[in-house]
Amino acid sequence: MDRLIQGYREFRARRWPEEHAHYAELAKGQSPQYLVISCCDSRVDPATIFGVRPGELFVLRNVAAIVPPYEEGGGYHGTSAAISFAVLALEVRYIVVLAHAECGGVKAALDRSLAEPLPFMSEWIGLLAPAVERCGHAHGERQFAVEREAVRLSLERLMTFPFVAERVKAGVLSLEGARFGIADGKLEVLDQARGQFRAVD
Ligand SMILES: [Zn+2]
Repeated sequence: MDRLIQGYREFRARRWPEEHAHYAELAKGQSPQYLVISCCDSRVDPATIFGVRPGELFVLRNVAAIVPPYEEGGGYHGTSAAISFAVLALEVRYIVVLAHAECGGVKAALDRSLAEPLPFMSEWIGLLAPAVERCGHAHGERQFAVEREAVRLSLERLMTFPFVAERVKAGVLSLEGARFGIADGKLEVLDQARGQFRAVD
């Protein structure tokens, strides 16, 4: 914990004097324009990658940045609850599904034995099965192909949420996909008209 306390002290000493007015404004309420759905991976911090300040992104992180299918009824729908809050209460304008290279969740989807010893994980990672199937004959790096296909799958599943589909059709909500390279620090964005990822200049 010492490392974190030290980091907090640096935040208070260096950042707080410059940022306190911004935080005072944020204390009145948040109105982020973006919901970013990202992996829990420690190497992929959306605020760092997109260079934004506190208050700009509503961030939902789970293993492999997965959007589950829309389901009614019981259960602890943590991911769906966050999507509901972002879309209906905060009225975000964009939902960005952010995948990344070397994703351990995708690795586990390709080798199910990796997830088996971990409680909860097999079922969760099983949600990627359609993306793995679609990449059955992928050339080159299969892991990378599934990382990208998982983004397409999550975007499709977002459209099964009635309140998401309604707002997309009304033109007040856009769904976007992206993937961060980690080693090369490069971002690629899904060109939905062409169905392909393109590196950002
Ligand atoms: Zn990951």
